[in-house]
Amino acid sequence: MLTHQIDPDSLAALPRGAGVYIFRGDSPLPLYIGKSVDIRSRVMSHLRAPDEARMVAQTRRIDFIETAGEMGALLLESRMIKTDNPLFNQRLRRIRSLCSIRLVQSPAGLVPEVVDSKLVNLGTTPALYGLFASPHAAAAKLKALAEQHSLCLSVLGLEKAGQRGCFGVQIKTCLGVCVGQEDRGIHDARLFSALCDSQVEVWPFAGAVDVVETSGTWVQRHRVNNWCYLGTQCSRSLPSSPSPPSPHFGQALALSDAAPREFDLDSYKILVRPIMLKTAVVEPAR
Ligand SMILES: [Zn+2]
Repeated sequence: MLTHQIDPDSLAALPRGAGVYIFRGDSPLPLYIGKSVDIRSRVMSHLRAPDEARMVAQTRRIDFIETAGEMGALLLESRMIKTDNPLFNQRLRRIRSLCSIRLVQSPAGLVPEVVDSKLVNLGTTPALYGLFASPHAAAAKLKALAEQHSLCLSVLGLEKAGQRGCFGVQIKTCLGVCVGQEDRGIHDARLFSALCDSQVEVWPFAGAVDVVETSGTWVQRHRVNNWCYLGTQCSRSLPSSPSPPSPHFGQALALSDAAPREFDLDSYKILVRPIMLKTAVVEPAR
């Protein structure tokens, strides 16, 4: 039972391909922005979802921007949610700076230190582990790893060691590296392997590259530098929908941009696997 008042032409125009769709109401701000590899069927499922009835009731038209592939849809959606502030997208807490754990080699052994993205470029600095919203969250991760892997709280910088070692020695969660009962190298190897899975991948290129997606003869080149999405160059003029031209394609692309960019967590999450596993088509930026 559909009770919506959505412009039927805007519904009829929805394509079956990949891209981003925009629910629009009476306000200049979009109601909702989403992405799919099949825009039409995804929008229809929104219209049928009982828990989305309130949003659907406010919707007057639905616009879309097609992309040549899924990566383009993910990158565009992520950018548009940040810039366009849709009313019904889940409010993501704006993270002004990120933290990570850096393993530093000191004369005594490996020492983890919490670093802030305001001071350390996360995409270009090696030996970083984990991405956290605050120094507190990074320290909590270290503490949890200490418990799981019998590491020393004092070596990890989480407490000062007294003469009888860290508190972990007393409760037997530390194997005693702080009181000479365990070899520091063995302790550090355990620390290293505990962190290994969460290593932040260093941007593996000298500068900007294009991640290329094609659909038939249509080619889109998503320019990325230091895990930061800069824009998309498109072989056909967009948008193909009757909606007004999107500021997210075309003029948004200063594609000569080769300077290192600030690390972007959303782009990193979208791109890290396809790029590191080489499943994405990557070409030098041109
Ligand atoms: Zn200890």
